Amino acid sequence: MEPAVLIHRVTKTLAAAGIGAVLWGEHLLATYGSDIPTQPDYKFLLDDANVTAAFDTLLANGHVLCTRQDWDDGLCPVVEEMRSRRQTKEHYSPFHPFPAYHVHGHRDTLYQLDTVIALYKASAFLPPTSDLCPLGPPAILPGEDGRINSQARFLYAHISGPNPTESRGGRFPAHLDSVLIPSPMYFAHILIHLGIRDCIRPGARTLWSAWLMELRECYELHGRGLDEWDEKLNFPEPLRPIWQYAIDAQNDVLEQPGCMKVWRDAMWRLVGVDPEEAVQKEHLAFRDGR
Ligand SMILES: [Zn+2]
Repeated sequence: MEPAVLIHRVTKTLAAAGIGAVLWGEHLLATYGSDIPTQPDYKFLLDDANVTAAFDTLLANGHVLCTRQDWDDGLCPVVEEMRSRRQTKEHYSPFHPFPAYHVHGHRDTLYQLDTVIALYKASAFLPPTSDLCPLGPPAILPGEDGRINSQARFLYAHISGPNPTESRGGRFPAHLDSVLIPSPMYFAHILIHLGIRDCIRPGARTLWSAWLMELRECYELHGRGLDEWDEKLNFPEPLRPIWQYAIDAQNDVLEQPGCMKVWRDAMWRLVGVDPEEAVQKEHLAFRDGR
């Protein structure tokens, strides 16, 4: 099954039960026109209160429970990753949080066990209500128009984005009309929020900044001058320098090893501390790794 068809099938099934879901991960990047490699691993964000109901709804509609929890059966990719991270004793979620629930492909598809549909609590990703984000995270609702429900922060994948090409993704065909995605600028906001939040976790920043650079590439190729890329209305002013680093392709700045300066400085600025001044005064928090 084509990824877009499968994604639409999942969100349409959930919408029929009154549950909204937002596409996330590599398949989301593909809708912006990225050529990032994708697996049959489909990630969705849901309002926290809906994840259990969504799991039950998918199981009741032909998706299958994970059966490959034992080595003998060949492990499910989700279980395998969970175990390998525990074995290496790395931080539990250095790269990407684990899903609250996952199911496997629909009973009538050929590759049902290799297909993972992972359900995540939105609160693990979306910026919470703060001075920086006074509107708070938008509710994730199925509906006629994502823009109206979410102050333009969620859009439908069939009405925005570039036309798909052989080598890159893009907008969904018009008949696959149930798939919500973050607007590109809201996705940038989310990734910067995650980069700042996780800058003390080894590895996490690398994933978020890697996705930010993918988004930046889409912006360069497809975005300039397009409405959905220019909706910076809700994009917090203090985060704009980091988006500018991405636009200027300053990947080395975003990926600095060790002290993760850009992200940590941003974090301090957000709580009202000037990092340069704090370094000069040898503030305790700035003594390590600088
Ligand atoms: Zn599984």
